[in-house]
Amino acid sequence: MSGKPIGELEFLRKLQRLLAEGDFVATYKFALLNALADLSLERELAADGSLRVPVSAIAEKLIEYYWPQARPYRERDGTGFVLLQNAGQQAAIINAVAAVQSAHATLPAARAAKLRWHTLVTRVAGTVEAMPLWKLQTVGGERDEFLYTQAEFADDAIRLMPGVPAAFRALYGFVLDAVRGAWLRQITNIAANRPLLGNSDLASFLFGPGERASLERFRAVLRDHQGGRCLYCLKELRGTGCVDHFIAWSRYPVDLGHNLVLAHDTCNAKKRDFLAYAAHLERWQVSHLERASELAQRFDSLALPHDGSRSRAIAWWAYEQGEAAGAHAWIDADRFVRLDASWRGVLGEGGLRRVAEPPPPDYRSE
Ligand SMILES: [Zn+2]
Repeated sequence: MSGKPIGELEFLRKLQRLLAEGDFVATYKFALLNALADLSLERELAADGSLRVPVSAIAEKLIEYYWPQARPYRERDGTGFVLLQNAGQQAAIINAVAAVQSAHATLPAARAAKLRWHTLVTRVAGTVEAMPLWKLQTVGGERDEFLYTQAEFADDAIRLMPGVPAAFRALYGFVLDAVRGAWLRQITNIAANRPLLGNSDLASFLFGPGERASLERFRAVLRDHQGGRCLYCLKELRGTGCVDHFIAWSRYPVDLGHNLVLAHDTCNAKKRDFLAYAAHLERWQVSHLERASELAQRFDSLALPHDGSRSRAIAWWAYEQGEAAGAHAWIDADRFVRLDASWRGVLGEGGLRRVAEPPPPDYRSE
């Protein structure tokens, strides 16, 4: 192991080789890479640029990704067919997730059933450790530990080496496309899945926005919370308004309550996938983060997914990357401004501070 942190180009080369030549029997390795990328955005790095990641945190991510995928893809001979995620038998994690789904309709409800959730996470963590964790970095029979090393595994956590989390942060969109493209091809290549894959909606089934309709369920909460006004222009919302991802779905494809705002259809259409400029960011900060706890309680009462701290971390990452890339930030209509450092004054340094939220409801009656 050299002492020099890996550079972005070397990281991409190794990742590309891993995706092209890695011997993947199940889709776990793609899910693992997706998890490492997401956790690099959401967690605070150590001073040397490394990041400790507990296997349980990886397990929670895998449950999240496989949650929609464990549902039947299509009816076949009168029964729902769940896509195989493994060349042989169904992948164990899919079966474990499906079993929990039969008792809990939504992910927030499953999370709130603490005992069962803990059992699921422990089980998935066991599979992660036994299967993809130590196989991921073996390509063509040769091990190249460029992400983390087995030697540094301690207290059920891996350590992403210096430079790795930074590379995931800088190249996130690229990495996600590559990983999910390979994941999709793997599922398409499993013979038993082929009869089911008639048309081309597979990508949206696997990676969303599959449950997009559920965004509608946020609308009433947001309207009330924002006093019936558009978050961007602050004018009254006359029609139904549009549920907008403050950090665009295309940048970070997760529906979490605090990242959602209500806006005019026209404001939403003009903003597109751009970052909003600092004054909008401040409105979001004041409305959604400073009052995170209030929002969280409302989301919980409707079993809607949310995580204020995570939404804040994602915003911090998006603005940090946008500033580095010289991105244009949206003001209104067709007006933009180059993103400067002023967003830092809004979100603050040490961007991964937690926001105050109540603990999730505890359904002990389970
Ligand atoms: Zn507006």
